[in-house]
Amino acid sequence: MRAAVVRGFNEDLSIETVRDPDCPENGVVLEVAACGVCRSDFHGWVGGHPKVTNGSIMGHEYCGTVVEAGAQAKHKVGDKLIAPFILGCGDCPACQTGASNTCESAIVPGFGAPGAYAEFVAVPFDHNLVHLPQTMSPALAAGLGCRVTTAWHALTDRANVRAGEWVAVHGTGGIGLSALLLAKMLGAQVVVVDVVQEKLDHALALGADAAVNAATQDVPEAIREITKGGAQVSLEALGIAQTTNASVECLATLGRHVHVGMPAGDGMMEINMRAIYAKQLAFYGTRGMPSWKYPSLLSMIERGDVDLTPMLDREVTLSGASAELRAMKGPTRPGTAVITDFSR
Ligand SMILES: [Zn+2]
Ligand SMILES: [Zn+2]
Repeated sequence: MRAAVVRGFNEDLSIETVRDPDCPENGVVLEVAACGVCRSDFHGWVGGHPKVTNGSIMGHEYCGTVVEAGAQAKHKVGDKLIAPFILGCGDCPACQTGASNTCESAIVPGFGAPGAYAEFVAVPFDHNLVHLPQTMSPALAAGLGCRVTTAWHALTDRANVRAGEWVAVHGTGGIGLSALLLAKMLGAQVVVVDVVQEKLDHALALGADAAVNAATQDVPEAIREITKGGAQVSLEALGIAQTTNASVECLATLGRHVHVGMPAGDGMMEINMRAIYAKQLAFYGTRGMPSWKYPSLLSMIERGDVDLTPMLDREVTLSGASAELRAMKGPTRPGTAVITDFSR
């Protein structure tokens, strides 16, 4: 099969013909229909993720059609499926208590196992996968498994956002836009933060109540002014110290910081502990979403309660993924890129 392989950090992915994946006993092989290009991939591509090395195939935001099913697979050949990026084992205490996104035996294709920057991907533990609704395009569905599920879990299960609250969203990439659209659906007021005015304008057009340009404004001060005292919830979607500090500093007393952005490198950061202490903030880490929550999320999207199509900006080829990763070194365009052509 054709795959985009990491051969050197910060270098174009190498388009190679590699061996087709073996079908796991407890899972399936998907012919990949679409795979999102994510900032987590960028962290791997620059050498900031221990599980991305020479020979890795990235890609954790995928959907596709089953072409082979193992003896113990739940799904069958021909099924069109979306995967949450964390594939819980299903058997451990975490999985059995509904927290499969914290499973210690979880497998994440793209980080440690071959991912979906390829024509085919092996998916073990296929009980995590759900059927792709007929009304949903593969390109849109590909973004759900990581961005949308992560934002949904962060807002509802971690921060417990309530109608009328102010939610600050730091970074308007895939996760940030998802958080904006979902928080608005929950009845919250949303202030978005970015360094690219075009992305802020895009977010305002999608329903953000206010926008702060971090390139020209003091973010915590601007948010405290807009929200008249600070946001109740603040979501950090980049994984860097500057936005993490802006997030804790923009919160109101007893506010909740939700940390969504994957910290780069060893994760060490200088954080304003005085803000956390003095305002008695809660600091939540969050990663992914347990797969059992997928059907309810999908049904809201299918019913039209929330329109996620504005998240998707452009469809690219497999070899075009390198340019998307490279672009993340600087300010990026609004919306996200999804690979939908694996032939070149
Ligand atoms: Zn992702
Ligand atoms: Zn488990």
